Amino acid sequence: MTIIATWEMSFEGVKIAQKLLKENKSNEDAICALINDVELNPEFHTVGYSGYPNEICEVELDAAIINGDNLHFGAVAAMKHIKTPIDVARLLMDSEYSNFISGDGALKFALENGFKKQNLLTGEAKAKYDVEIANKENADKGHDTIGAIIAGNGRVVSATSTSGLFLKREGRIGDSPLVGAGLYADSKVGGATATGVGEDIIKGALSFQVVNLMKSGLSAQEAATKAVEEFDANLKDRGETPRDFSIVCLDKYGNWGAASNISEFPFVVSDGEETKLYVSKNYGRTIEEK
Ligand code: ASP
Repeated sequence: MTIIATWEMSFEGVKIAQKLLKENKSNEDAICALINDVELNPEFHTVGYSGYPNEICEVELDAAIINGDNLHFGAVAAMKHIKTPIDVARLLMDSEYSNFISGDGALKFALENGFKKQNLLTGEAKAKYDVEIANKENADKGHDTIGAIIAGNGRVVSATSTSGLFLKREGRIGDSPLVGAGLYADSKVGGATATGVGEDIIKGALSFQVVNLMKSGLSAQEAATKAVEEFDANLKDRGETPRDFSIVCLDKYGNWGAASNISEFPFVVSDGEETKLYVSKNYGRTIEEK
């Protein structure tokens, strides 16, 4: 089984997920455990508990999961007070309707299903808010999403979780819970997940685009490079200034790719034997082990 995930913060979670897969746990169990490891870590300020807050100093979280066998998905957005939004998203996967819920409705659903209402804002995140809000226009708008894909035994599952953009408008929803933008999976082809500025990733439907390119015959790495580079150029052609975006992807056999329009994009891969941290440079044309 192969796992790929965004950013260095996923390293321990990837190892946990690989261990669970070896114990014959499902791809869904493994990917949620990977994401929970990041959501619950108070040192990571862009996902889950201790995420950086929105402009009114409230932590609002987005998360989603998609099963590439039947394309069932579950997603939550702008949800407050729940430390592990991916687990709430997972509960929505097999509903006939209301697979994607937001705000108070998402919180209500979580509480009805046994989740605890908790404070997500840590002292460190509040201190950062107090410093940056004073100069909001020039604030460091730190953001990163944990996105992961697991492929193996004929199955592909992708998932995401994030606190979104720091100081975002209340109720703002990024790409991460949106199937096609922040994540996609098709067990006949492969999966992809994105991180970076959601407002751009959504416009490019980047995760679906990468899976479609793999479907047309490109390798995982070729698909990631083409999708990111062409979309970056496409925005520039229209006089836009592209913001940061990065992609990781896996084909159904576990071949992987990663590409970004930033100078260095770290990601983690486990092939079942070893877990390694890599860096993607130059739209994925250079991949270095770190
Ligand atoms: N894509 C996330 C969002 O826009 C943030 C990130 O991945 O950096 O909410």
